[in-house]
Amino acid sequence: MKNESDKTAGTEPDVPDHDEETSEQQNEDDKKNPVHTPDDIVGTMKDFFEKMGFEVMSARQQVVNAGKRPAAAEKSDEEPVSPLKVVKDFSFKPKEIRDHLDRFVISQDEAKKVLATAICDHYNHVRRCLEKPELAQRDFSKHNVIMLGPTGVGKTYLMRCIAKLIGVPFIKADATKFSETGYVGYDVEDIVRDLVKAADGNVEMAQYGIVYLDEIDKIAGRNSDGGKDVSGRGVQVNLLKLMEDTDVKLIGQTDMLGQMQAMMAMQTTGQPPRSLISTKYILFIVSGAFDRIQEIIQRRLGNAQIGFHANGEFTGRTDSEILKQVQTQDLVKFGFEPEFVGRLPVRVVLDDLSAADLEQILKVAENGILEQYRENFAGYGIDLTTQANALHEIAARAAEEKTGARGLMTILERIFRDFKYELPGSGVTSLDLTAELVCHPGKELKRLLQVSHKLTDKLKREEVQAFAERFRQQHELDIEFTAAAVSWLIDQSSAQNKTVRGFCEERFKDIHHGLLLLSNHTGKTSFPFDVDAVAAPSEIISGWIRDSLKPQK
Ligand code: ADP
Repeated sequence: MKNESDKTAGTEPDVPDHDEETSEQQNEDDKKNPVHTPDDIVGTMKDFFEKMGFEVMSARQQVVNAGKRPAAAEKSDEEPVSPLKVVKDFSFKPKEIRDHLDRFVISQDEAKKVLATAICDHYNHVRRCLEKPELAQRDFSKHNVIMLGPTGVGKTYLMRCIAKLIGVPFIKADATKFSETGYVGYDVEDIVRDLVKAADGNVEMAQYGIVYLDEIDKIAGRNSDGGKDVSGRGVQVNLLKLMEDTDVKLIGQTDMLGQMQAMMAMQTTGQPPRSLISTKYILFIVSGAFDRIQEIIQRRLGNAQIGFHANGEFTGRTDSEILKQVQTQDLVKFGFEPEFVGRLPVRVVLDDLSAADLEQILKVAENGILEQYRENFAGYGIDLTTQANALHEIAARAAEEKTGARGLMTILERIFRDFKYELPGSGVTSLDLTAELVCHPGKELKRLLQVSHKLTDKLKREEVQAFAERFRQQHELDIEFTAAAVSWLIDQSSAQNKTVRGFCEERFKDIHHGLLLLSNHTGKTSFPFDVDAVAAPSEIISGWIRDSLKPQK
């Protein structure tokens, strides 16, 4: 709560007092009613938020961040990217984008073609509008995209690859967030604000970014029984505005931290920070599996056209083949507003991935799923190699999961789970992914560990002999360990979690005195050490010395 003196102090904080008496009086008053300048208030709020674990950025930091490269652009740090450079320099041709996608994404030829063309149309238009601002005044329908297709077939992956190639910020969100909360909670405009975050706070760059909204089919209003789903329709209407051209506030109404930062920015620079972002050049991609829309399509076309030839022969079309016949009216029947569908002029249907496609993902896709496992094992010094028939078997099993390329992850995780746990530190340095390993991972792991055990056991035996050799060189005395004594030393060292070398050196550190004495008495330079001798060397050697001192009969 501010009192009268706060207001005065707040507006004129630096005016010096000329009247000393008044000044003293003022000091007394200040102690009773402390005066808060805007700096004090901001400082206190900053402390408060930092104590709560938030990062409070000053306007200067924000300005620095604004100059950073966009999150999606993978350019080297040495060459700072001017925010608009990537858009102004956009010169890709659709086929060049397709070629790039071919390196990472298997199959989906039609989707690659349609997406590459839509992206080029969009960014060429943006570039031209930047070059000739009068073009921006003309009507232009954005090439927003709707992607239909089952899960795990590369919908998101295609868009991520494209955004990375062009160097524009990219954000993915689930449309279900909106339907669950309706108008409260996550607001559709928050996606645009998230895009700004993905661009490291660079609003200028975010204006040319890509928003990807998954599970869009979940916000279709159901109109089968009991009228339309109001919340789904409401979200569609809100999204409509975003997809077209609107200004979004950069700070949400419930974003206290954002409001704080804006206040601090104003305090540092004396200028109000930018408060709005236009969605005019943001490209929107929506996607979904659209389960059961096939029924609507089939009903429209009639079974005769879709499943049977005129001669009655069943053609047995796949889901994606039926999906490719989708029209606006089917999407409207499914529960979308016609205006909403109208804002999504580019329609792409993705194909199911066959077992052969999945095999190709394992074999040829750059940065593929298997690469991650290779990296994981390499982290422990284990070299993962693969056999062609193993990849064939994995792909066949993954296809049965019916979750696209995600099936590959499921199968690989199942196969490798125990290997990732057991192999690190086991002495195994290479792992060959064979068909046998795919079919019987447990058995193969056991075999591998046994081999490695034998290997490490052999190495440990050599360590014991190496100790005896060093002892001989140092003292010119031979210790001859029996096989049982070697085993005992190995077992004890591992039971005490010590290296064989360290264990032997500690255990036999003083025995050379006794052995030298013994050697002087008897002339022997070689001593057999059995299990009793390694278990209690001092006692045994003392016994030997006593025996050697007994008068000879
Ligand atoms: P969705 O279609 O559900 O959006 P994603 O694109 O997220 O599926 O795919 C999940 C993962 O599976 C990707 O990150 C990628 O590694 C892999 N993947 C999916 N489809 C393909 C494909 N056609 N080619 C290569 N990898 C793919």
